Amino acid sequence: MGRNDKGSVGFIGIGTMGREMVRNLLKAGHAVRVFDLDEAALSDSAREGAVRANSPADAARGADIVITMLPDTPHVEATIYGEHGLLQSPPSGKLIVDMSTISPVAVRRIHADLHKIGVGFIDAPVSGGPVGAKNAALSIMAGGDAEAFAQAEPFFRAMGTTITHVGASGAGQTVKLCNQLICGINIQAICEALALGRASGLDLNLLRRVLLGGSAASWMLDKLGPAMIAGDASAGFRIDLQLKDLRLVQEHAQALSVPLPGTALVTSQYVDARAHGEGSNGNQALFRVYDRMTNQITG
Ligand code: NAD
Repeated sequence: MGRNDKGSVGFIGIGTMGREMVRNLLKAGHAVRVFDLDEAALSDSAREGAVRANSPADAARGADIVITMLPDTPHVEATIYGEHGLLQSPPSGKLIVDMSTISPVAVRRIHADLHKIGVGFIDAPVSGGPVGAKNAALSIMAGGDAEAFAQAEPFFRAMGTTITHVGASGAGQTVKLCNQLICGINIQAICEALALGRASGLDLNLLRRVLLGGSAASWMLDKLGPAMIAGDASAGFRIDLQLKDLRLVQEHAQALSVPLPGTALVTSQYVDARAHGEGSNGNQALFRVYDRMTNQITG
């Protein structure tokens, strides 16, 4: 990278989060080559100034860094180990950063495999949702070698505001799993308070406002409370992805023999939501489970 060169990025996975992150990388002056399996996503991104690539290897061509933002572990593994993958054709800058939420065990395996060929790998999952991604205000929690983190940091600055190197490879994902179990249980607590408030005849908007002024305040109550009160189940962070994260939390906890009863309970409620066809709804739609339990809706 030259002195005035902002650095070029290969970006794989331009869905709800990735497309916003690419916009911010372009805004910050980075050249971005994008790859996704979805044609429409590629065309939209190309219209906004990114260059379309036709495989992970093609996205990595000439790049200082490749960033992946994909649904789950198998998708990230496919871009690394699959046909036209990054293991065979790493970026020129020899750095790959995965910003998806995936298994910390898989992360450590990928890190070791890439290390053998002299390529750095950082796990850097994010928190802040699509709005945080849009506003370049994500919290980015990174695991991996200090040198690789330093190399990735200028690119993180284009996408986030709280950027923390939390430890060795896999530590970023472990912090993210802690984040996700708090989010899940917090949404459940809000659903219960709203169900009780509604049955008591309270004004739920007033209830939310009062709670936000005290020790029950939370990001979830602030950002998702209005949608929960309005009965708006539309997507943000999909229930399917929330369930994927809760599965990763439980796999990790079981491997360490850590009991997480709160996580187990809220996971079964999210399974109930998915069984009622709500996997594509936003995670705030857990309120529909409480609607059913309190006879507010059927189905
Ligand atoms: P998404 O499903 O909207 O986007 C994923 C994109 O990856 C899609 O465009 C899909 O076509 C593409 N894709 C899938 N497999 C691919 C492959 N093999 N090669 C190339 N492209 C492929 O998901 P999202 O909401 O953007 O989430 C991405 C990741 O970020 C997930 O791990 C999620 O848990 C995490 N995350 C999401 C949010 C959120 O609020 N949506 C917040 C924080 C973290």
